Amino acid sequence: MTKGVMLMNSTQEKNLEVRRVYNEHLGASVVKALEANGFKASYAPTAEEAVEKVLALIPEGSTVGVPGSSTIRELGLFETLRARGCKILEHWDPALAPEDKLQRLEDENTSGIYLSSSNGVTLDGKLVNIDGTGNRVAAMAWARNRIIFVVGINKISRDVETAIQRIRDVATPLNAISKGVELPCVKTGFCVDCRVPNRYCRATLVLERNPMGREAHVIIVGTNLGY
Ligand code: SF4
Repeated sequence: MTKGVMLMNSTQEKNLEVRRVYNEHLGASVVKALEANGFKASYAPTAEEAVEKVLALIPEGSTVGVPGSSTIRELGLFETLRARGCKILEHWDPALAPEDKLQRLEDENTSGIYLSSSNGVTLDGKLVNIDGTGNRVAAMAWARNRIIFVVGINKISRDVETAIQRIRDVATPLNAISKGVELPCVKTGFCVDCRVPNRYCRATLVLERNPMGREAHVIIVGTNLGY
């Protein structure tokens, strides 16, 4: 055995296959529901196939706005997009001066392509997002650009209520931990509906249907991505 390479035992291999089949069926159900709500939706079994789908939707040389999204960064798309002549606009850019942040947020939202994840997607094809600043939910509710959502299978919930619950109980504390931000949910491991000054949860958007006149694509990925 090559040093550092762990072989799977037969139960692990079987469980992986069980999970693959389950994700494929769940993904197909959600894609169908999203399409019924007017979104252009598709399923990608793996992160690599999701990347191919995203690239097919972004013309070379585009400006691509990327808000705070762990999923998009996990896909490692930035280098590939830059190699295709795309310009990435992101306010998480470590080189960005604090005084330029507001302008960058505006530039993200008005870019040619808006590339994001969604905090949640429901079994009946609704997209649920919660913001602290409100920049993402603003761009998701209205902009002139093409919007692409890439959503890991871990973000599927039964309905809007359980999606909001998952975002607050799971996604928000994980997100805060990743940024080293102290929030009450980080300490407890679940939401306590806090009143602290740096509370993350301030603006909730539910896209019940594809917004009128918007070209919105949703790619459901059969693997866990982001929070
Ligand atoms: S309301 Fe407060 S405690 Fe609850 S998830 Fe949001 S930031 Fe965390």
